[in-house]
Formats: sequence, structure tokens, C-alpha cells
Amino acid sequence: MSSSDDKQQRIHLSPPDMTEVERDALLEAFDSNWIAPIGPALDAFEARLADLAETEAALALTSGTAGLHLGLRVLGVVRGDTVIVPSLTFVATANVVRYLGAVPYFVDSEPLTGNVDPELLANTIETLTAAGRRPAAVMTVDLFGTCADYDPIHEVCSEYDIPILEDAAEAIGANYRGRPAGSLGDLAVFSFNGNKIITTGGGGALVGPKPFIDRARHLAMQARNDALHFEHSELGYAYRMSNILAAIGNAQLSRLNDLTSRCREIHGNYVEALADIDGLHVLSQSGYGRGNGWLTVVQLDPEIHPGPHELCRRLLEENIEARPAWKPMHLQPLYRDSEMAGGAVAEQLYRNGLCLPSGSSMTEDDQHRVIRALRTALLADDMPAPVDLNEYAASKISDPSPA
Ligand SMILES: *Cc1c(COP(=O)(O)O)cnc(C)c1O
Repeated sequence: MSSSDDKQQRIHLSPPDMTEVERDALLEAFDSNWIAPIGPALDAFEARLADLAETEAALALTSGTAGLHLGLRVLGVVRGDTVIVPSLTFVATANVVRYLGAVPYFVDSEPLTGNVDPELLANTIETLTAAGRRPAAVMTVDLFGTCADYDPIHEVCSEYDIPILEDAAEAIGANYRGRPAGSLGDLAVFSFNGNKIITTGGGGALVGPKPFIDRARHLAMQARNDALHFEHSELGYAYRMSNILAAIGNAQLSRLNDLTSRCREIHGNYVEALADIDGLHVLSQSGYGRGNGWLTVVQLDPEIHPGPHELCRRLLEENIEARPAWKPMHLQPLYRDSEMAGGAVAEQLYRNGLCLPSGSSMTEDDQHRVIRALRTALLADDMPAPVDLNEYAASKISDPSPA
């Protein structure tokens, strides 16, 4: 049972998975001297992203957050508007609403995937609209690499004529009823941050119909008008991705299928290896599509098991990085005063949720190490009582046979 011999290497939650393919692409871009926020690698990256999302156009950016910011802006969100945001998400989703001076209205999760509860979302839209506050946009999040349940979301949003911005930051390669993540809102955003399933070190993209993307492209380049002398008539941003990073992105995209296959396999291994543990439930990949396996999240019954913070501490002793699930926005000091529909489900998913190392580069041995360490932490109470050292010593001393 000793684990001291396999403790050497830290197992990270979701590290970048880079190979010679990415290295070669990076050097090729470097050697071609396209070290600028334009260039052939960038054009190719955008074309591939648009294809992947089965949409017209894509805009590669410095971050997913920049994509969300531009997305809301080109959908017409302005100061004072109300925007619906799932509470269980990374803070970027809510922050961009604030960037525009708009107000987030948080909605709770459904318990199976942690994604926004479509029924509660519909009720919230009805209630707000009846009160004269029709939301200017709905943001959906494809949480931990599993798409939200879009059919009922589309139904209510089209009834009330509200655009959807899909935060697919975690979900590239996932799908919903055969349609890819990135195609499920009026506009969608991917992230290529270092912890995501594919990465450019840092980066993101906005994808969708060409008129929106053209408009976003203009804003992403300081809204520079077509004049030699740098004329500006509205407020823009410096949000463009560089050609160098897009080169890495192209190489990562060429491996996307392999990476998602591997992550799904890792997810399946966890489901199997932890199935016999009472009071443990692996957050599902949903019945309506295929997640990309980005992060495996387990829910632990607090009556039976230690909490996620304690488990992270114990796993770290084995040099394994785990994390609690995202802390919901309505529990964040930054958003404590925001309005909210429900909240108990997201809160429970957070209090009982543990994210396990799920990186595509994790070896089988690594995963066994994680599973062993987690089982030990969870099943410690079921294990035989520790040996009484006094008794043990006495038995040794009275044993006449030499070792
Ligand atoms: C990572 C992430 C973002 C932000 O992406 P960045 O590229 O880090 O700006 C937004 N939303 C969700 C749900 C994320 O996980």
C-alpha cells in the first residue's frame, strides 16, 4: 500500500498536452517572421474554428473572456441591461456583464450535469419580462465540457426573442444531439487558456454568423476606421490573438479528436473504478450528447465522506492536484448582492464537488495513483483498524524466532 515510491511526479488537474507537432508549428510561424496579430496561421486557425463550430466565421482573441465581452457587446447588451448567467461557472462569465455596465441575474443548476436548469431559466425569463425587465441576453455555460440542455433553452429564448451567448470555454469537441459545442447559441466562445482541453498558452475565440464576427473584429482592433491616420469613432479593445499563438492552436486542433478521446477514456475509467463507493456519484456527461471529458467531477455525500477541501489536502500529500468545483457566483463576495433564481443546487454541487485530474497527457499509471489515493482517502474508515503499536511490539519481543 506504500505510495512513497510513486510520489515523485506531481499529477496536475488539467495540464497542457504539447508534442512535437505544436513545437514544429510554433517554430514554422516564428521562422516565417509572421510575429504579428495577423498572418496565415491566424487565418487558418479562424477558418478551422468556424468549421468546427459549423458556423460562418471565427475571431481568435487574447482570451475567452475577451470573446465573452465582445460577444455580449455585439449582441447589443448595454449599460443597465439584465443578462442571465448560470451561477455555477467561472467568474469570467459574470464579469463581462459588469464590464458593459449591465447586471447579471443568476440562475441555478440542474443536478445531473451542473448546467443551467432550463425550467428555472424559462420561469426567470417569464417573471423578469412580466416585470418589464426582459433580459437583453442569456449566457449559457457548457460546464466541465458537457453542453447545457439547449432545446428547451432555445424554445423560451426564441419565444421572448432573447439572444444566447454560449460560453463553450470548457467544451470544445463536445456535442449536443449531434451538434457541436460552439454552434448552440447565437454566438459562442472557446477558451485556449492553459488549463483547457486545447491551449495556445492563453487565448480564446468568438464564433458565429459573419456580420457579428466582422463587427467584433473591428472592435477587437481598437475600432480603427478605414483611414491611414488612425481614425476612431467608437470605443474598441486590443483583443486580437497573435499569429504565433494561432500556430500552436492549429497544431492542437489537429489533435483535438485524440485529446477528447483520451479525456473521455479517463472519465470512463473513473466512473468504473469508483462505482462501488457509497455516497459517491460522478457528474454525468448527460443523456443528450457527448461531453469532451475535460474535467471529471465527483459528488460526495457529506454524511459519509470528507469535504472537497480536505480531500484536496490529502491528495496533495500524494502530490496529486485536485480542486473543489467552481464556487457559484451568488456565493462570491463580488456578486453577493446580485439577484438570483434558486441557488441550492449550485451550492450543493460546490460544497460536495471534487474535480479530479483529467488531463489528456495523464498516463494509466498516473490515473491508478489518483484512484488509489482517492479510494484510500474515502474508504479509510472501512479499512482494518490500525495495528496497536504496543501490542505489535510486544508480539515481536515475545517472538523467540530470529528475523
Ligand atoms: C476558462 C473559462 C473562461 C475564460 O476563459 P479565459 O480564456 O481564461 O479568459 C470563461 N468561462 C468559463 C466557463 C471558463 O472555464
